[in-house]
This record gives sequence, structure tokens and C-alpha cells, in this order.
Amino acid sequence: MTSVQTKPTGAGEAAASTFDSLDPATDEVVGTYPITTAGEVDAAVARAREAAAWWQGLGFAGRAERLTRWKGMITRRSAQLAEVVHAETGKPHSDAMIEIVLAIDHTAWAAKNARKVLGRQKRSSGLLMANQAATVEYQPLGVIGVIGPWNYPVFTPMGSIIYALAAGNAVVFKPSEYTPGVGKWLADSFAEIVPEHPVFQLITGFGETGAALCRSGVDKLAFTGSPGTGRKIMAACAETLTPVLIEAGGKDALLVDSDADLDAAADAAVWGGMSNAGQTCVGVERVYVHESVYDSFLAKVVDVAKSVRAGSDPEAKIGPITMPGQLKVIRRHIADALARGGRAVVGGADAVGDRYVQPTVLVDVPEDSEAVREETFGPTLTIAKVRDMDEAVAKANDTKYGLAAAVYSRRRGMELARRLRSGMTAVNAVISFAAIPSLPFGGVGESGFGRIHGPEGLKEFTRPKAIARQRFKPLMALTSFSRTAKTDAQVAKLITILHGKRV
Ligand code: NAD
Repeated sequence: MTSVQTKPTGAGEAAASTFDSLDPATDEVVGTYPITTAGEVDAAVARAREAAAWWQGLGFAGRAERLTRWKGMITRRSAQLAEVVHAETGKPHSDAMIEIVLAIDHTAWAAKNARKVLGRQKRSSGLLMANQAATVEYQPLGVIGVIGPWNYPVFTPMGSIIYALAAGNAVVFKPSEYTPGVGKWLADSFAEIVPEHPVFQLITGFGETGAALCRSGVDKLAFTGSPGTGRKIMAACAETLTPVLIEAGGKDALLVDSDADLDAAADAAVWGGMSNAGQTCVGVERVYVHESVYDSFLAKVVDVAKSVRAGSDPEAKIGPITMPGQLKVIRRHIADALARGGRAVVGGADAVGDRYVQPTVLVDVPEDSEAVREETFGPTLTIAKVRDMDEAVAKANDTKYGLAAAVYSRRRGMELARRLRSGMTAVNAVISFAAIPSLPFGGVGESGFGRIHGPEGLKEFTRPKAIARQRFKPLMALTSFSRTAKTDAQVAKLITILHGKRV
């Protein structure tokens, strides 16, 4: 949580603005941070540009060595970082550890694989240009602006930061105003490993600071957050034709087939929907279940969901809603579902308190209600019965979002997964793709575009550079005014032999 304070300063001095980061469970101030102004953002980007040249000069091996040492430092201090995550988001310490562990694994992968994915590769030059040696290499863009959310304040922005750094870029990072302390921890620890130049800088503040980063002349802006803010980011970046990567929200579906392992599917539905108090971009929000197993699946979900409680004591499995404004959205979605004929089989209207939301499972909810169509971002699930898996796929795909999905099926997992319109799908598991560093991560539709993680995530922060080097004089001089009619006739003959055959 945050509160803004404009600290009064002496007469004649400009007002220096700061904001507080609050513990969402207690409203205690956990830190006070500057609101970085547009001028300061520009200065940070200018410093980053110089640092980028130095960082690029280290080469893949030099960068991998630094990133590997950083990974080691994060690992050794992970309990301390988890404490900062816990204080600013309210999520249980063990959940904070999981996102840190995943970020560490991604760092190791990006450091190890950057050269293989981005380094110079030979390409075939083809028969016509057989005298040329063709290569492509992926060069860093320069300075990457990263704007992050609060829900996974380590794992999510690190998906951009690590891959951008491994590719040879400098990074200017604006964390969410709810989690500036986590951002500071990351930037400070990196600076201990890379003290020479400001390769990874932090700026803090609200939307205005983020907008200033969009307009600062960065070479690419990597945004993770809501689709609404994504639109504003694109508009601001359009002014300078700055390319953008958008990782936005979702309304992910889980499909349960007639032959699914129902215990595993129920456990996954509840964990996927309710862990981190439902504040997960790739969390499960909708479940479509084959009618032949609907009743028994629902009974199992109710059992598991009843064992989950939101609170701040050590036994509570989920914490508070980090952003107070979200409580209104969750309350509205539940109320709308109930008003339109839905039933709460766990939780319900009373589940939404002042800070905490208790698990809520809704059934018989019309498909056009807000609880089915909009991102709820709370510990809620809608569960619907379907005739067959074709209907499940059609309903799952009937959304403006398309981030991730999950399928529980013994026989048809791969087939159903491929038919789902989403960037990622887990089969007989949930969210598993996010923990596999070699897999790309990103959405379609209002869930965004571009990819972090994996080879695609490394390439996202580079430009392909093609080089054709002449090895010997061509047998036929095509690119010269000295070209003769004889050469033209030879070319015509050759191309007819190569491509003119009727098929
Ligand atoms: P948000 O859109 O409110 O804020 C995200 C960031 O954008 C913050 O740092 C904020 O300060 C900044 N911002 C706000 N207005 C801005 C502006 N006009 N210009 C530039 N920057 C601006 O999102 P949030 O509430 O922090 O995060 C929750 C959302 O993020 C959910 O929709 C969730 O699904 C999504 N999310 C997506 C992914 C993914 O990988 N696809 C991962 C995590 C979260």
C-alpha cells in the first residue's frame, strides 16, 4: 500500500515529494521513497546510455559472470528479500520465497544461454549468392525501461530485467508504488556486484514517473501491469515511436475433462485461483468442467477451498489484498454474480472484508457477468458445467484476454492445450510454464504482446543484425552496371531451372 506525502521544505526551495510504502496488513510505514521527476528520469536514462556501452563491451562471458555472481548473492540473501516482499505485499514469507527461487533460476538460465541464443550464427547464403558468407547476430537495443507491478514484485519485473541485462542492455526500472522497497533491494544488490557503472538503476514514483520513462528516449519499454495502463503506456511511447512490450492481465481458464485426475484438478484449481490471494496474472479465475465429473469435482474443490483462510497469522495460507482499491472490484464481481442467479458454495458477499478476502467459489454464474468476463484479482473462482470439451474450449476462448490456461485430462491434454487461445497452457498442472526458464511467457489480445523468458525473451531486447560478407568474386555480377545481356540470360536460365518447374 502507499500514501503520498509532499514534504514541506524551506522557503524558496522546490517542494521535494516522497511517498510511503505501507504494510497492507497493518498500514505501518515500511519505507519512504522519492517521487522521481521527469528531469531526473531523463538524467538516469542518459547515465544508463553510457553504462550500456560499457556493459555491452563486457561481452557475453563478462556479463554472464556478473549475472551469475548476482544470482548467488540473491540466493544467499533470499530470506531478507522475502521479508521485504512480505512487508510490502502482505503475502506469506514462503510464497515470497517461491517467486524469488523462480527469479534465481531464470537468472541462471539467461546468463548461461545468452551467447547461444544471441551470438553470431551462420545462415545459408543460397545458390544465387553462394559467394557470400551470411551471418546474423542479436545486438542489444541500448537502454530498456522496465515498469513493474506489485503482485510478484521480484519474479515479474525480473522476467524483463534479467533478460534485458543478459542481452547486453542497461535497465532503468520503475517498480510499482506499492513495492518500491523490493525494487530498491534488487537495484542495490546488483550495484554491489557491478559497482563500476549504473547498469541497473531504480526510479520510484507513481504513474507520472512511469509516463516520464516512456517519453525519456529509452530504446524499448517493457511494461507489466493492467491492460488499462498498458494503453496509456503505448500512447506515451507512440510519441517517440518507442517500441513496447506489454505483459497485461488475464482471465485464465482451467478445463477439467471427464477422465481427469479430479483430486489433482481440484487442488490445482484452488491453489491456482487463490494463492497470493488471487492476485496472480496467470491465476485461475474460471473453471469449465465436463458434466460427467462436475458434481464430484465441485465437492472436492469445496473441501480444499474451505481449508484456505486469509489472514496475517502464520497459519493463514493467503494474505491481504495488497491494493485497497481492488477490494471494491472483487466485491462488485461477487455481488453481480449473485444478483444474476449465481450461487456461492464457498464464501460469498461477506467474504470481502476491509483488508482480507476469504476464498469464494461461485457456480451457476452467467457467462456475460463481470465475474466471468473481467479480471477479478481476488481469491475467487467461477465453476461452470459443460456438455463436452468443445464447449469448454469455446467458452474458455470467449474472452478479450489470452494470457494462460490449464487443462486436466488424461487422454486429450495436448490437443485441448493447443486449441486454447493463450500464450501459455499447463497440462495436468497449473502455472508450471512460468517456472521453466526456456519457455516464452506472454499473452494475446488484451493480455498483451511480446515475450519474456526463454530465447524469445532474450531476443525481445535485441535487434537482429544481418551481415553478408563477400568471400570471392561472383560468377555472375548481378549488382553492377557492368552486368551484361549474357549474365541476364544466365540468370533467367538458372532461376528457371531452380524454381520454374511445374508442381
Ligand atoms: P497497474 O497497471 O496499475 O500498474 C503497473 C505499473 O504501471 C506501476 O508501476 C504503475 O505505477 C505504472 N503506471 C501507472 N500509470 C502509468 C502511466 N500512465 N504511465 C506509465 N506507468 C504507469 O498494474 P498493477 O495493479 O501494479 O498490477 C496488476 C496488473 O498486472 C494485473 O492486471 C495483472 O494481471 C497484471 N500482471 C501481468 C503480468 C504478466 O506477466 N502478464 C504479471 C503480473 C501482473
